[in-house]
Amino acid sequence: MQVLLVEDNLALAQAIERALRAAGFSVNHVDRGETALVAIRTAHPDILILDLGLPGMDGLEVLRTARNEHFSNPVLILTARDSTRDKVAGLDAGADDYLAKPFEIAELLARLRALERRLGSVKSKNIVIGDVNLDTHSLEVTVAGENVTLSRREYMLLKSLMESANKVQTREMLDSKLYSWGEEVSSNTVEVHIHNLRKKLPVGFIQTVRGVGYVIKKQAGTDV
Ligand code: CA
Repeated sequence: MQVLLVEDNLALAQAIERALRAAGFSVNHVDRGETALVAIRTAHPDILILDLGLPGMDGLEVLRTARNEHFSNPVLILTARDSTRDKVAGLDAGADDYLAKPFEIAELLARLRALERRLGSVKSKNIVIGDVNLDTHSLEVTVAGENVTLSRREYMLLKSLMESANKVQTREMLDSKLYSWGEEVSSNTVEVHIHNLRKKLPVGFIQTVRGVGYVIKKQAGTDV
């Protein structure tokens, strides 16, 4: 799940980024509305967290423009104060949810999980395919009831593949979910993580689609 965070308060942005990464989200941060629009157009984030009070183009204008350009993914707005006018304007401009500052990070994470469910990719707390159970709250993964220990990136990779089961994920798609902009990514990194993940998962669970990417197949009748 790739989140774009638009927030001009750098201390707050860093705190949010840390918390989201720890919770298994990939997050990119920009601090201006103009840059946010470019990022929305080029990177198509799964979820947008948008501060309304920004220097230059403000959050509402970003939101209206993005919605006019058919950006349809969930948007959570951050309002500076618990102002009804801000909230109403934000919701009218196409926001799905709002959070008034100051807020607890735990609440932000809960709202994001709700938006994630609305996206349809994660319908419940657990994603279950065959013997593999991934708990999106505790970040625990079990195989046939046994806990397996995954690195943060292995977890993000497995979650990306499981939430889009039956759809082939290209290396580029997986890269963008695993790494934020500016992070050093070596060219074979997804392959390395897949290699390590496979050792911890049932044989054949992650399938390679030669020259394209990877897929996890979900059989009919499997719990989701
Ligand atoms: Ca602000």
